[in-house]
Amino acid sequence: MNKTDNKDIITFFFYPTSDRKDCHEYWCKIYKERDCHREKPYASPKGYQNLFNHLQSEAHENEWKDLWKVEKQSRILAPTQSGNINLLKKFTPEAETLFGWMELVIHNCEPFSYVENKIIRKYIKLGTVTVEYVQKHTIEVYDIVIEEIKKNSS
Ligand SMILES: [Zn+2]
Repeated sequence: MNKTDNKDIITFFFYPTSDRKDCHEYWCKIYKERDCHREKPYASPKGYQNLFNHLQSEAHENEWKDLWKVEKQSRILAPTQSGNINLLKKFTPEAETLFGWMELVIHNCEPFSYVENKIIRKYIKLGTVTVEYVQKHTIEVYDIVIEEIKKNSS
């Protein structure tokens, strides 16, 4: 990656916290898109190293290069649609369906049988899933969350 690319990457993923010319604090646009509670400004007084470190960190290491690839393609193929981080492009339809059902069950404290309820299915525009499928993945997410909590509290 050359210098111009670096600057492009930074302005695509971050924006300064103020209009002041000497402002070296930036917000992460991916966190903003996600409404992420971990959001905090990233200082990068000398060059962009801190900002790159944030992209390379666990937070975005698996996604930022793909997002940047999509952005570079759309700058060529669909310039009017470029400049925006589209996080949805990253997920498969299966993942979105699963996420939708998990969100409904968990947030509304519904039993897992909810996902096979005929009336619910009639009115909810999500793909079909089985109780076992949603249960299995919810347990996996539960395990990941518990691991994260342990990691962050030790
Ligand atoms: Zn971020």
